[in-house]
Amino acid sequence: MQAEAHKNLIGGHWIGDGERFTSINPSDISETVAEVHAATPDECAQAIAAARSAFGNWAESPLEQRKAALDFIGNELIERSAEIGELLAREEGKPMAEGAGEVYRAGQFFQYYAAEALRQTGENAASVRPGIDVDVSREPLGVVGVITPWNFPVAVAAWKIAPALAYGNSVVLKPSELTPASTATLADIIHRSPLPDGVFNMLQGPGEIAGSHVSGSSDVDAITFTGSVATGRMIARQAIENMARIQLEMGSKNALVVLDDADIDLAVQCAVNGAFFGTGQKCTASSRLVVAEGIHDEFVEKMIIATEALVVGHALEPGTQLGPVIDARQLQKNQDYLRLAREEGGTLETGGELLSLGTEGYYMRPALISGTNNTMRVNREEIFGPIACVIKVANYEEALAVSNDSDFGLTAGIMTNSLKQSSHFRRYAQAGCVMVNLPTAGTDYHVPFGGRKASSYGPREQGRHAREFYTVVKTAYVSP
Ligand code: NAD
Repeated sequence: MQAEAHKNLIGGHWIGDGERFTSINPSDISETVAEVHAATPDECAQAIAAARSAFGNWAESPLEQRKAALDFIGNELIERSAEIGELLAREEGKPMAEGAGEVYRAGQFFQYYAAEALRQTGENAASVRPGIDVDVSREPLGVVGVITPWNFPVAVAAWKIAPALAYGNSVVLKPSELTPASTATLADIIHRSPLPDGVFNMLQGPGEIAGSHVSGSSDVDAITFTGSVATGRMIARQAIENMARIQLEMGSKNALVVLDDADIDLAVQCAVNGAFFGTGQKCTASSRLVVAEGIHDEFVEKMIIATEALVVGHALEPGTQLGPVIDARQLQKNQDYLRLAREEGGTLETGGELLSLGTEGYYMRPALISGTNNTMRVNREEIFGPIACVIKVANYEEALAVSNDSDFGLTAGIMTNSLKQSSHFRRYAQAGCVMVNLPTAGTDYHVPFGGRKASSYGPREQGRHAREFYTVVKTAYVSP
């Protein structure tokens, strides 16, 4: 298939004079999914200038105009979720149903914030001084730089762009260079929506050029970033230099605790789902399985059977449950961690082998490692692949301590029938999202999402909490 060359969206025009790069299908590396013009430094400057010049009018725009634009985008994403989901599956490697589900969810974010655009309320307060009125209102921030990863190239962009626009900001998006076509489809819909030119702009290309132009610009008022901790730290330093507001959502090392009284079949189902679906390439993945000793052996036995039953295959093949890993670098990283796990004393119970299927792709079997402890590097560092490590613990107290003993804190889960212990875990798990008898991955779109420690920095994303990041508060005192 001859791939079309995508361009950058700048001030309402598709512009592309820069070098070309390609995205390839990780299920079949002989297939080029897209050719793309990387933004040049000059184009980056033009996009930021376009967003700046469009900001004033958009900040003053009638709320129904914002709602109409967001509804247009949300509705089209939902109507075309199967078609765009297939492109996403080809480019990212997730099974088609997950691709379609992601695009559908992206549409829901736009629909949700279309409604939120009408709910821009403030507060009225009594003054401590007689005869004075006080009110607290929120105003748009300005130009928001949006930098996104490859693992949810449509949904993460949607959950940032939709609130940015609803609250009256203009946007410069820099999507991942590994999944440019999926995000370009979203950009095309936004371009055709009733949004005025320049309110939304997109720059393609590597992080070091387009990304660092956005995060390093003194004309960008806020940066919202999702990606790795290393990149997040770099972006934070640049943003602070410019006094730009920042919101960072980064990696994790989520624990799923399984207690002796858990429903073991449900625990295995949640562990397999959380650890391996999405090929383990989710920030919410259950990479540490913290299992009480009374249930440990049976749990590991059942996990081996369930892991071996998973169908790894081409993302577009019906019946595929796990697609390939995103690229050769990540595949090598996964293999390196498997070797390290064995060197550290872990036992590879099943999986980890590279697979040769009908097409050449980055395939590996999901791996389950037992006999690990929480000091091992495989349990401290984010791998971001289909690898889960089992840590045996004596009881709930140790399970909670192990779960919390991490540099990260995005999600934490517990499998138990005890109300007492699940309630205690909800309160004391050091994570932004806590799941009881559910996989650690899988969240709603209308409530806050985010983590603690190295997983997140800045205000929460999603739901009404998003306005903490995308608006600035003004307190007015009026003497009538
Ligand atoms: P990454 O950090 O490599 O890249 C993320 C984005 O940053 C890309 O668009 C990249 O081009 C850009 N970038 C890279 N260098 C840059 C620079 N110097 N300046 C500006 N931008 C730069 O991350 P990734 O590999 O795309 O994504 C995987 C990571 O994302 C994992 O750590 C995962 O846990 C995390 N993630 C977190 C969440 C969450 O909500 N917490 C969600 C999804 C993914």
